[in-house]
Amino acid sequence: MPEGDTVFLAATRLRAALVGQRLLETDFRVPRLATTNLAGQSVTEVVPRGKHLFLRTDGGWSLHTHFRMQGEWHLYRPGQRWGAKAHEVRVVLRTAPWVALGVRLPVCELLPTGEEARVVGHLGPDPLGPDWDPDEAVRRLRGAPDLAIGEAVLDQRLIAGAGNVYKSEICFLRGITPWTPTGEVPDLEGFVALLARLLRANRATGNQITTGDPRPGRGRWVMERTGRPCRRCGTPIRMARQPSYGTDRPTYWCPSCQRGQGPPS
Ligand SMILES: [Zn+2]
Repeated sequence: MPEGDTVFLAATRLRAALVGQRLLETDFRVPRLATTNLAGQSVTEVVPRGKHLFLRTDGGWSLHTHFRMQGEWHLYRPGQRWGAKAHEVRVVLRTAPWVALGVRLPVCELLPTGEEARVVGHLGPDPLGPDWDPDEAVRRLRGAPDLAIGEAVLDQRLIAGAGNVYKSEICFLRGITPWTPTGEVPDLEGFVALLARLLRANRATGNQITTGDPRPGRGRWVMERTGRPCRRCGTPIRMARQPSYGTDRPTYWCPSCQRGQGPPS
């Protein structure tokens, strides 16, 4: 599941492969861009911002993609067999050394580079961004004191980059339930600092390890561990749904290790 660190890693790989390369052929498989052609332009930069990614060209264009739940970027050598189904491919960018494939990207649009702020200007501070501002993240979170911390962490206007994995894991690590009102979270500065550390620790791999143990099945405290014993106290981990942008997302917690209110019954 893409989170800020996943997008950061994708941007790192795309940057290494494409920056400085001329686009030989572009194929946009979304209706709005069906006639768009960037061939002849060169890739100048690939920039992650929260869960958004911008691929900029020297023609002054930015290809904006958002990963949501399913999106991926793949890189192949020319002639190499694709590991994506044709109907899932949204964009194909061909350069001499690499073919980049945007797969299952729910957002794929082109805009002038100068207008990137139009789609990400609302985002809160990004722990993986060059301008990370933890004090501003704390200030924005404090501005939503009644919002459950598990919802606040996913609200990209307050702090950018975290998704469902980090939501559950950070609440476990800080010993509070995801339903704790943000205004009642003790040491919000420490909460934000740890979330930033987790995202940064995983940006080179995208593995979303929070326990420090990279072995298969050991990387997380509570995420997707419903009914299994808490790694600290042995209490069965629980799961309940919590709203996020109009959908209910599974949220995991240890009812012994984490203090505060539980899910609304
Ligand atoms: Zn526990």
